[in-house]
Amino acid sequence: MTATGTAINAADLPFANSFAELPPAFYTRLMPTPLPAPYFLAASGKAARLVGLDPASLASEDFVALFTGNQVAARAKPLAAVYSGHQFGVWAGQLGDGRAILLGELDTPEGPLELQLKGAGKTPYSRMGDGRAVLRSSIREYLCSEAMAALGIATTRALMMTGSDQGVLRESVETASVVTRMAPSFVRFGSFEHWFYRDKPDELRVLADYVIARFYPELAAEPNPYQALLAEVSRRTARLIAQWQAVGFMHGVMNTDNMSILGLTLDYGPFGFMEAFDAEHICNHTDEQGRYSYANQPQIGHWNCYALGQALLPLIGTVEATQDALDVYQPEFARAIDVLMHAKLGLMNTEDDDRPLFDKLFSLMQDSHVDFTQFFRKLGQLQARPAGEIAVSDAAVRDLFIDRTAFDGWVAQYRARLAREDRSDSARKAAMDLVNPKYVLRNYLAQVAIDKAQNKDFSEVARLLAVLERPFDEQPENEAYAALPPDWASHLEVSCSS
Ligand code: AMP
Ligand code: MG
Repeated sequence: MTATGTAINAADLPFANSFAELPPAFYTRLMPTPLPAPYFLAASGKAARLVGLDPASLASEDFVALFTGNQVAARAKPLAAVYSGHQFGVWAGQLGDGRAILLGELDTPEGPLELQLKGAGKTPYSRMGDGRAVLRSSIREYLCSEAMAALGIATTRALMMTGSDQGVLRESVETASVVTRMAPSFVRFGSFEHWFYRDKPDELRVLADYVIARFYPELAAEPNPYQALLAEVSRRTARLIAQWQAVGFMHGVMNTDNMSILGLTLDYGPFGFMEAFDAEHICNHTDEQGRYSYANQPQIGHWNCYALGQALLPLIGTVEATQDALDVYQPEFARAIDVLMHAKLGLMNTEDDDRPLFDKLFSLMQDSHVDFTQFFRKLGQLQARPAGEIAVSDAAVRDLFIDRTAFDGWVAQYRARLAREDRSDSARKAAMDLVNPKYVLRNYLAQVAIDKAQNKDFSEVARLLAVLERPFDEQPENEAYAALPPDWASHLEVSCSS
């Protein structure tokens, strides 16, 4: 629907495409490859409304054809962008949109959003790939994009998903799916590295100027706008990763081609949410060295900013100025995680000894493999001055620990700390419930939805999204979605296969 309430035809969507106005070296114009007999799988009402579309209309044949790539809107200028990147710490050379096709951008009150079809066929950058995405990985991307947005974490969005019975070969034959993603821009760190490693300073500058003019206009007036860009991207990346740590999100493939120049969570593959706490947890089965483990994410974020800094160095001018911009990262991360940890523990003030209190907690959680999400959520129920026997009143959270004596020791310290703040239990719980989600996209929840969808029942995808859209709310009817993973889930493995 438009603002005036008239329905828009799929073919008439008023696409613009500012990226297509860059010189042709930055992309290849091409049409998506149609899929046979596409069908509607799911749409995000919240994402649809962002771009002024009526979610109900997305299930229509026209929109399904458009967002599968079987039809192209008159004003779209489909293209695949080129980029390179460091994969698992090693320079990988040219990658590019191997299976993502940008249609163009739609205006929103918060600025234009680009719409991109992921899985819409081969591009000149597909290398050995088939240009497709399987149902399994598309469901994961669709659900997690919207779940992260609901958690208040910067991310690309997912507008809708379509499917086709066309077979797609991975470890076994699966079926094809297309996710329509949305973001102000899909430019990555690797988009800049591409021109640096090809020794093309002119293109490097064109891209940087485009990104600054369009997404960071306030930086254009800085004495060194490119240095300011690197500093701002480092700041946003640090903040983003602090938010990931605070909800136990692990990206799984933090290659520089998956790092957004806008500080968005980008490219959902073998991600995971921390369950039984283990700082060394590796969510991506393919990541044998644990480069992208939970504990490593903050320093990898910094490493990736270094890769961007290397690429921007010719524009920034000196190593010192580049280093200064990169030095923004660590203090920003420390500040952001400190604020988030205080909020997670329901602490309003900061004291010198808070850090050891947090560290001790994580070490106890590690020893007892405590479920990350359940622990923080249940901690909100703790009474600062319990009336009866402590073991009874603390049971909800205490019973998560194997070593309950150790937990009692920590909780005594925590209570002493709470006693120095003037806030009622109910006010503290209400504040904690706004930052400690009850519902996250546990791997097994996604797997249940995937298994059903592979049998043509898409209802669980919709139902799960409805739960994850309200992660901080108590949803008594959906209590089961907050449960610990069942035994069968301990065998679940997610890899780069998608
Ligand atoms: P990812 O690990 O999904 O970030 O992908 C790394 C690179 O491989 C990107 O350039 C992707 O576009 C490309 N790619 C991944 N899967 C495929 C596929 N099935 N067909 C073509 N390109 C792909
Ligand atoms: Mg990628």
